[in-house]
Amino acid sequence: MTGNGAPKPHALRVARPADRVDNGFYGQDIISVRQFSREKLSYIFDVADEMETLVRRFGSADLLSGKVLANLFYEPSTRTASSFMAAMLRLGGSVIPINEVRYSSVSKGESLPDTVRTLECYADIIVLRHPEVGSAQIAADYASKPIINAGDGVGEHPTQALLDLYTIQRELGRLDGLKVAMVGDLKYGRTVHSLTKLLSLYNVDFYFVSPDILKMPPELVADVRARGHRAEEVEDVHEVIADADVLYVTRVQKERFHDLAQYERVKDYYIIDPELMRLAKREMIVMHPLPRVGEISYAVDQDPRAAYFRQMENGMFIRMALLAAVLGKA
Ligand code: ASP
Repeated sequence: MTGNGAPKPHALRVARPADRVDNGFYGQDIISVRQFSREKLSYIFDVADEMETLVRRFGSADLLSGKVLANLFYEPSTRTASSFMAAMLRLGGSVIPINEVRYSSVSKGESLPDTVRTLECYADIIVLRHPEVGSAQIAADYASKPIINAGDGVGEHPTQALLDLYTIQRELGRLDGLKVAMVGDLKYGRTVHSLTKLLSLYNVDFYFVSPDILKMPPELVADVRARGHRAEEVEDVHEVIADADVLYVTRVQKERFHDLAQYERVKDYYIIDPELMRLAKREMIVMHPLPRVGEISYAVDQDPRAAYFRQMENGMFIRMALLAAVLGKA
């Protein structure tokens, strides 16, 4: 625990209005993908489908009018911050954007608990990105309003994993029976940590493809195997490319390296290019949480199997669904 003062008990949560929908998400923090069951996922995916229809037909709605979201980002973000913002605005709500917290009180030494307790005076829900593992849980312990984890260091990125899973389901029409290869920085990449946990709810085989120094945390590999999945760790992407249904590529997370020389040695370890794509199945998809640095060549963008831009678009529908669900309106 950091900060001062005792955490607020969750019994102090906002009073539930009579018109709220009891969906199992109302008033809840979204901290980890471990909170999700297959049923809860399919509920959120159904709502996301409806959100897409809403956006395509009308652009926006007034479902969350009068609600305010505080978007509190201690680390840079393009997609997560702007898609949460767009999601809230399209549902008729408003946003307080606080980006790369430098000029606000945190840079004057204010603790995370005090910052979230301040923001919840003005907002109904807080989306938080922070460089430390466990920070979202700490914020949730102190806040009485819901906290959504938008990435806690190398820990988790649950909303990214939801949109990743939603994308796989949409693109391939199923989640069971797939072979998923995760490629790149599996040590520091929080998106692959969350996605692996979510996928282990389904009948999926894993290939973890990385250089030796960027391997998936051993406890996560052990957990996946204990749940009965096949999980193979390999270094050469050529060994798995022909077998994979999903190739989930990640950026080497430069900001997590203490030794930049080590980063330089592994940063271009994998480059997905048209030549490699020729070895892949016709029905496979290439995903990436973005931003990419050089690990997928631009020439792959024209390939219909390149799903990363569709994946990015799905993020807004998923975040609309989550906001509506947590605020009791889905
Ligand atoms: N945007 C993703 C994240 O925040 C992936 C990345 O930064 O490489 O984790």
